Formats: sequence, structure tokens, C-alpha cells
Amino acid sequence: MKKIAVFPGSFDPFTIGHEAIVKRALSLFDEIIIAVGANPLKKSYYSLDTRKRMIAKVFSSESRVRVDHYEGLTVDYCRKHGAKYLLRGLRTSADFEFERAIAQVNRAIASDVESVFLLTIPEHTPINSTIVRDIIRSGGDASRFVPSALNLKDYRGEEI
Ligand code: ADP
Repeated sequence: MKKIAVFPGSFDPFTIGHEAIVKRALSLFDEIIIAVGANPLKKSYYSLDTRKRMIAKVFSSESRVRVDHYEGLTVDYCRKHGAKYLLRGLRTSADFEFERAIAQVNRAIASDVESVFLLTIPEHTPINSTIVRDIIRSGGDASRFVPSALNLKDYRGEEI
């Protein structure tokens, strides 16, 4: 049976930190679904469609990576797509505490879905979407923090 992992997140925008986690996870799983959480109550800088297009561009030559979006419970999405693994990245102890609570609750409601964590490489520890977004919004050059396949000028954000 195919080992499918879901990598859920806001990805507003997708960074080199996210990219590295997915690339490393490709040696563990047969297929990875990058699932953008579509939360109608949470405003994003890049629209859902733009975020999906950006991620699809990054993995355009990797047939084992799919890009999708979802609403509702992440574990329900995993079950619907036959994914037994939920992939997350860890940067700091704050990430760990946050992720621990989510993973333990997820396990309580869906013990058939296993959370798997990959520790970021040290250089990616300070990179997070909020900071990258702030640089972009302020007209700075954030290119070194996003995957090299992306030219940020090709994507428009929305004022939030
Ligand atoms: P969320 O809003 O669910 O936290 P994000 O898009 O910020 O979504 O992150 C998705 C996942 O990627 C999370 O597990 C997060 O910890 C991880 N992640 C974010 N930035 C990095 C990074 N620089 N290195 C490794 N993992 C990261």
C-alpha cells in the first residue's frame, strides 16, 4: 500500500523551510499532499488560489507531490485521501509545544493517522511565513527565503 502523507499549513507564502521539509520527506513517503488550509475566517495575504499555484510551480517536476486545499478537520482530510501520516516541521521548542498538543488531540480523535515531525535544518530555524510576508509587503527582497523556482514578482498579494 502506498505511504501517503499530508503536509498541512497556511503557506502564506510557501518558504524554503517548507520546501526542505517536503523534499526530505520524499525519502520517507511514496506521495505527499501539500494541503493548504482554507479558513474563510482567517485573512491571508496571498489568495488560496495563488498559494496553490506557487506551491505547484515549486514541485512541477515532482510527480509524487500534489497540491490541494481543504476545510475542516485535517485528520478527516487525511482519511478521505488514504493518508496515514500527517507531516509537520519543527523549528523551536515553541513549535514543539504547539505541535504536541495538536498531535495528541489528533491522535485522540483519529488514532489511524500518525503525526510525523521533521526537525528543520539550523539555517531555516528563523524562517517563518509571517516575517517573509512582512518583508514582501514592505517592498523588501524576500527572494532568498522562498524556493528558487518562485519569482515573487509573478504573484500578487492582497492587503490585509
Ligand atoms: P500553520 O499555519 O499550520 O502553522 P505554516 O504554513 O506556517 O502553517 O507551517 C506549516 C508547517 O511547516 C508547520 O508544521 C510548521 O511548523 C512548518 N514550518 C514552517 N516554517 C518552517 C521552517 N522554516 N522550517 C521547518 N518547518 C517549518
